[in-house]
Amino acid sequence: MAEVLKGKPVADAMKEDLTKKIEALKGKDIMPKLGIIRVGARPDDLFYEGGAKKTCAKVGMECEVFEYAEDIDQGAFEKAVTEVGAKKDVHGILMFSPLPKHLNERQVRTLIPVEKDVDCLTLGGAAKVFTDDPTGFPPCTPTACMDMIHYYGIPIKGKRCVVVGRSLVVGKPLAMLLLREHGTVTICHSRTENLPEVCKTAEILVAAVGRAKMIKANYVKEGQIVVDVGINADPDNPGKYCGDVDFAEVEPVVTKITPVPAGVGSVTTSVLCKQTVMACEMQNK
Ligand code: NAP
Repeated sequence: MAEVLKGKPVADAMKEDLTKKIEALKGKDIMPKLGIIRVGARPDDLFYEGGAKKTCAKVGMECEVFEYAEDIDQGAFEKAVTEVGAKKDVHGILMFSPLPKHLNERQVRTLIPVEKDVDCLTLGGAAKVFTDDPTGFPPCTPTACMDMIHYYGIPIKGKRCVVVGRSLVVGKPLAMLLLREHGTVTICHSRTENLPEVCKTAEILVAAVGRAKMIKANYVKEGQIVVDVGINADPDNPGKYCGDVDFAEVEPVVTKITPVPAGVGSVTTSVLCKQTVMACEMQNK
């Protein structure tokens, strides 16, 4: 039986720490604020937005949603994003993506000020993450994985880490964060040969694939720590969701494992608030 590493205690500890930091900022007449830019009303975006608003309220910071019609044109949207970016009282910006297809997302991202880029949407933000510049903010999900690993006292230095997935939002930045802490990192993807064998070499195995229950018992071995980033519709339980790891098969084999739901996903909005407060502190130095 593996130890199940839940996200809630990690998020709770983070919120407690944030509440104190926000109180200190308020004592200097500074109110940290997250700005959320949303085009249209996709259910996934609304769900995440609801969670972010709730977390902001809980820790005592502000959150404002800048909402635009699904058919907004490029010029009007660029003007709007520039205006949000220039707002002195907004310290961190999250923009939901993907944007509708008629909008040039790459161009819009350049309009977000790097110092307010709390989810690594800009090239400047990514450059900071990939060059180990501590003033840069990695995307919230890989940061949440690292916060889980730290909270549960899992050593990274010198350990063999295998990350399955190489997206810019999860796999690649997470690999950089593990490397920054001296993990020996292997990044896998859809063309990796003998994936189960490579996964078995890991001491820390991270699944960020986007395929329900893909990591089976034959991908793991005793003693491993498994971090499951996946959020997928559960093919066996309509209306529920599951991870990239087949929990029922893998949990009896490994030493520690994050569950889905109630794992990494429950830490991400707290990370978003944490990074906004850090941005606020840096902007008010
Ligand atoms: P993505 O952009 O679709 O990337 C998936 C990655 O997995 C790609 O690098 C892909 O390889 C690789 N892959 C796909 N099929 C594979 C296979 N059969 N074998 C090996 N590698 C394979 O997904 P993402 O945005 O990184 O998200 C990954 C998962 O995390 C999803 O389940 C998503 O819902 C979840 N997620 C969770 C959170 C959270 O807060 N917990 C936040 C964001 C995302 P190629 O590059 O070769 O195509």
